[in-house]
Amino acid sequence: MIDLSLTPEQQLLKQTAHDFALNEVQPIVEKIDSSDSHVEPWDLCKNFFSKGVDLGFTLLLLPAEYGGKGKKCVDLVLVLEELGAVDVSVASSYFNLTAAMALFITRAGTSEQKERILSKVSNSEPFLFSAAESEPNVATSDMFCPMPDAKIGMKTFAQREGDTYILKGEKSLLVTNAGIADGYFIIARTDEDKPMRDSLSLFYVEADTPGLKFGERTSLIGWKPSHHAAIHLDNVRVHEKNRIGQEGQAAELLMLLPEVAIGLAASYVGLARAAYEYAVDYAKKRVSWGRPIIEHQAVALKLADMMVNTQAARLMVWDAACCAETNPFLAATVKAPSSKTFAVDVAIKNAQLALEILGGYGTTTQSKAGKFLNDAMIGYSCDFTREILRLGLVMSM
Ligand SMILES: Cc1cc2nc3c(=O)[nH]c(=O)nc-3n(C[C@H](O)[C@H](O)[C@H](O)COP(=O)(O)OP(=O)(O)OC[C@H]3O[C@@H](n4cnc5c(N)ncnc54)[C@H](O)[C@@H]3O)c2cc1C
Repeated sequence: MIDLSLTPEQQLLKQTAHDFALNEVQPIVEKIDSSDSHVEPWDLCKNFFSKGVDLGFTLLLLPAEYGGKGKKCVDLVLVLEELGAVDVSVASSYFNLTAAMALFITRAGTSEQKERILSKVSNSEPFLFSAAESEPNVATSDMFCPMPDAKIGMKTFAQREGDTYILKGEKSLLVTNAGIADGYFIIARTDEDKPMRDSLSLFYVEADTPGLKFGERTSLIGWKPSHHAAIHLDNVRVHEKNRIGQEGQAAELLMLLPEVAIGLAASYVGLARAAYEYAVDYAKKRVSWGRPIIEHQAVALKLADMMVNTQAARLMVWDAACCAETNPFLAATVKAPSSKTFAVDVAIKNAQLALEILGGYGTTTQSKAGKFLNDAMIGYSCDFTREILRLGLVMSM
């Protein structure tokens, strides 16, 4: 028998995340959403991030021996759904990315790297990660290109020089946390003659490394509380002790981390739920033809679809999270991409239906419908796009 009920400990974790999201995150998100784009969101978010770290949200997946909570992926998704219901970018950019990259070090790092890097993550000071692969003049979808052509894909190069590498190149203006993070995972090629998938290596670069430069904050159509910018790698010298894994192993190593896409999916379940709840609330209050619009079947059935699809997306996320513990390969190749692409589709559909149910009010910036829709649409292309995730699924068949 499959038991999907939460343990008392998980119920408490979910409630703690719910209260934190409403009391600490929501007021800041509302402030950012209603201000102009010149506000630096991290200045306002730093404080609640720090409180979230104190509550252990970024340490959930870290084993106890590294100062973590030793919890499972399903525990993280409970937290991320609650945070995502308030703001999907806060859930994804700050909490999910940092929790997942810390876990990644435990899986792919040397003992020295685990000791050195994870001690900072489990410190009481908040420590933020960023991971950069996208480049300005390269389709990120090339990461999935099956053609063994060395000319296709990333151009950033890491030239070996003794026991160091010199990194040169540009990363796209969408890199999450670029310019505000403390530690950067940067992918670069270490062999120009091999196809991209066999020539990518991963480097850990501390924020204050000379030559690591950042562009201005990129203004997005949604995800207002998060910070994205380009990275310029101007002869950045990185010691080989900061190479994670072997040369040419980066693509393979990142397969070890289905938790990023699963966490993103959980955040989008949160958004889908929030759009549904917002629409229900409005539909109970708005009166037309002498009764609340929820009593008109045309409206009620939309709400029922929103609820059904949200539940389906949540179940896929929980399934993927459980699979991450038992069969990480299946989780990475099938469950994580399936749940991410489905959860985003549901979030987009729910945001669209919420906007419809709110009528003209839904088109104003006083309502949350526009925020839901813009934040949802961003899910289409953050991580990998809907087409690429589906093509990846076809490749695994
Ligand atoms: C909010 C946000 C945060 C992000 N954070 C990061 C980050 O932290 N680090 C980072 O490195 N990157 C980040 N990105 C970049 C993101 O990974 C890419 O934008 C995404 O993978 C899409 O790549 P692209 O923009 O190069 O689109 P392209 O690869 O150029 O694709 C353009 C279009 O063509 C389609 N397409 C491409 N190839 C094929 C094909 N073979 N078959 C069918 N259709 C195809 C795509 O589906 C898409 O519709 C972020 C993006 C966003 C929006």
